[in-house]
Amino acid sequence: MKIKTGSEYMESLKQVKPLIYYMGKKIEDVTTHPATAPHVRAAAMTYSLAVQEEYRDLATATSHLTGNTIGRFTHIHQNVEDLIKKVKLLRVLGQKTGTCFQRCVGFDGINATYSTVYEIDQKYGTNYLERFKKWLIRIQDENLMVVGAMTDPKGDRSKGPAEQEDPDQYVHIVDRRDDGIVIRGAKLHMTGAVNSHEILIMPTTAMNEASRDYAFICSVPIDAPGITMIFGRQANDSRRDLKETIDVGKPSFGIVGGEAVIVFEDVFIPWENVFMDGETEFSGLVVHRFAAHHRANYGACKTGLMDVLTGAVTYLAQAQGTAKGSHVRDKVTEMIHLSETLYSSSIACSVEGVPTPSGAYMVDTMLANVCKHNVTRFHFEVARLAVDLAGGFIATLPSEHDLRSEDVGHLVKKYFSGVAGIPVEDRIKIGRLIEAMTGGTAMVESMHGAGSPQAQRIMIFREGNLNEKIKLAKALAGIPQKEK
Ligand code: SF4
Ligand code: FE
Repeated sequence: MKIKTGSEYMESLKQVKPLIYYMGKKIEDVTTHPATAPHVRAAAMTYSLAVQEEYRDLATATSHLTGNTIGRFTHIHQNVEDLIKKVKLLRVLGQKTGTCFQRCVGFDGINATYSTVYEIDQKYGTNYLERFKKWLIRIQDENLMVVGAMTDPKGDRSKGPAEQEDPDQYVHIVDRRDDGIVIRGAKLHMTGAVNSHEILIMPTTAMNEASRDYAFICSVPIDAPGITMIFGRQANDSRRDLKETIDVGKPSFGIVGGEAVIVFEDVFIPWENVFMDGETEFSGLVVHRFAAHHRANYGACKTGLMDVLTGAVTYLAQAQGTAKGSHVRDKVTEMIHLSETLYSSSIACSVEGVPTPSGAYMVDTMLANVCKHNVTRFHFEVARLAVDLAGGFIATLPSEHDLRSEDVGHLVKKYFSGVAGIPVEDRIKIGRLIEAMTGGTAMVESMHGAGSPQAQRIMIFREGNLNEKIKLAKALAGIPQKEK
């Protein structure tokens, strides 16, 4: 692996020169800019863990392509054990960062693409898999971070890609040349985009014949000509500019992953980096597999976050003298119960994983959708309980400037003190952490990341096998089964 440690990863980002805008200005160095550096540090943790003996087994894998030791985030799942190790790794990373560490999007995109292009080759005799393997070996050997780019802007949602008034609402091929393709459009909500090395572009939905130019998969370096990124805002991000380290809640890491709009203005992609081109019937498959892999993750990465939140409110209760209250213990118990229920779901869809025709393993898609759907409820309930236990002071706290003020600092300390022996600054810090982890941007990500709840309900109904369930009911009720 070329990039081994977190600091090598950060150094590698200085070698690429993507065009990034934030608040109307260019970001020259994502590793030092206050808006992006916290997200870089979270992604760096995926590298740092791999060189720690304790986590080496979870954070690395053996490439089935080269036999080399690689970072797990570049691996193709070869068995159920790989799927389980991924889940365990994500929970640890969630615990250590308290946020999204971003690298799973590319990881899931790589796995979904691998198994899908194998099946395209089987049907059409194309050679996409060979091209993809060549690219993937480079990603593995160099241990690069890949942003999986799926979500298009979609314009008028009542119309398909080819029916839009503005064709750029879905990324599409505008030219097929002898040496490659030229693409135009944009991808939204791109987690980790500004601190990745490469983009893996996939279709956003199932496509019909009319949408041939929208049904493609390709990769492109993050700083290729024609790519512009616009980095999104997060709740309270201006607190970082003011260097209010306590007030940001999590000084080292971001609220969520750090999302950007990626715009492609006539970007050229050589054929060697095109892994699907117009095989419309496979668009739905790659989306389905990507979504299932990513939904399986949420019961792990978000459980790591809930572990932090549970620890935070328990410590706060100790600082406030309420830890022994039976209602407090009961609510903390409920937080743990909900977190472990989600984790069970992530483990279950991995244990029930199956091989695809390519040999790459897939999670159980029904259980993965149930897992993510429960995140959209349980994470919110865990956050509600945390806010309930923390008390209103997390929303009304004076700033760190007042805490440090010569004029009023002693008053803040006096009136925000709690149990003797626990510094008032600790109580304020933990309150701010809870504020950051239960606030707007964090919870929106939990709701809509990996697909909005309705997307999971569609899959749950579709895969619910209702005809089989009707047969079960009829058998028990003594109703004859009609042959179709
Ligand atoms: Fe990974 Fe979770 Fe972030 Fe998705 S939300 S990229 S699964 S950490
Ligand atoms: Fe996410």
